[in-house]
Amino acid sequence: MALKPAAVAPTSSELEIEAARLADKGLAGLGYRDEELERAARLTWRINRLKKEQRAVIPAHVYQRPEILLGVADLVGDSYRLAKLCADADAKSIIFCGVRFMAETAKILSPDKEVLLPAPEAGCSLSESISAADVRALKKKHPGAPVAVYINTTAAVKAECDVVVTSANAPKILRKLFAEHEQVIFAPDAMMGKNLAKELGKKLGEELIIWEGTCIVHNNFDATSVEFYRKMYPGVKILAHFECTPALTSVVDYIGGTGDMMKWVADHKSSSYMLITECGLGDLARTKFPDKVFVPMCRLCPHMKSVTLERVLSALESPSAAQRIDVPAAVAARALRPIQRMFELSEDKASS
Ligand code: SF4
Repeated sequence: MALKPAAVAPTSSELEIEAARLADKGLAGLGYRDEELERAARLTWRINRLKKEQRAVIPAHVYQRPEILLGVADLVGDSYRLAKLCADADAKSIIFCGVRFMAETAKILSPDKEVLLPAPEAGCSLSESISAADVRALKKKHPGAPVAVYINTTAAVKAECDVVVTSANAPKILRKLFAEHEQVIFAPDAMMGKNLAKELGKKLGEELIIWEGTCIVHNNFDATSVEFYRKMYPGVKILAHFECTPALTSVVDYIGGTGDMMKWVADHKSSSYMLITECGLGDLARTKFPDKVFVPMCRLCPHMKSVTLERVLSALESPSAAQRIDVPAAVAARALRPIQRMFELSEDKASS
């Protein structure tokens, strides 16, 4: 059956069905009221139709708004998972619900697809903390040391490095680099660098050279409040993201990336859980594990939350020049190598 033109608004019964679908997907459980469900449904109905007509795929990072994750996203995950899924997606275009470095990574991996970033100004304090010139200077200062950069970096920075890592595979990849080198450079997240040095038993500044970038969300959680929450919620299991400060990660039950945190919750039985990271993960966890109790403790990332359903719709209906992601071919070719190296090193189970 041919689809109706997507610009046509849903009939009242179509709207009712779409609002009920969103409620069932988990938005009702997160406290969305009827009028909020209806407002979201008007947009998701149109986005989902346009998406099909245009053979577009919508990947969304777990820190996105619930109505995006549950209403229109085709692929949901952390940076590593999304990078892989985008490369394999059978689509003409990618509407990336996330921040700029993620959309750039998708473009590098899928040069033939059109990549659109609904919120073109969505940056990241980590990726903005370091430039390609900074990486070149680090390499000059520490000749022979391989450079591993966090995926939260620009394409130009990735182009200067040896391997890209994510919070899900950084310990594994750095272990492999240290097996062949006495010194490794890791940039730009200083907190993650410090956590990695501790986990790998390496001396900061001597064996592991780090950069002083920080995430504006994870750097601001207070380690001293952990004791208070343990008293307030006896038995609570506290999980923190790798980007949190070492003072905090040393007093929690588990540290890892967002995918690992979700897996840990799935694998453990506890009276309650606290996820110290961006609020999107807690929202997603509440819908994935409705029988588990999650104690609120999170912060919003203004960059991630700048993506809205209205902006996703605008990227599909009439994308602006600013929403189109373009990575110069020479930079993309050089940035592709360290991303592929990440896939090789993180999936090489035989040598893990
Ligand atoms: S949560 Fe932190 S690391 Fe993630 S996009 Fe926001 S500023 Fe960047």
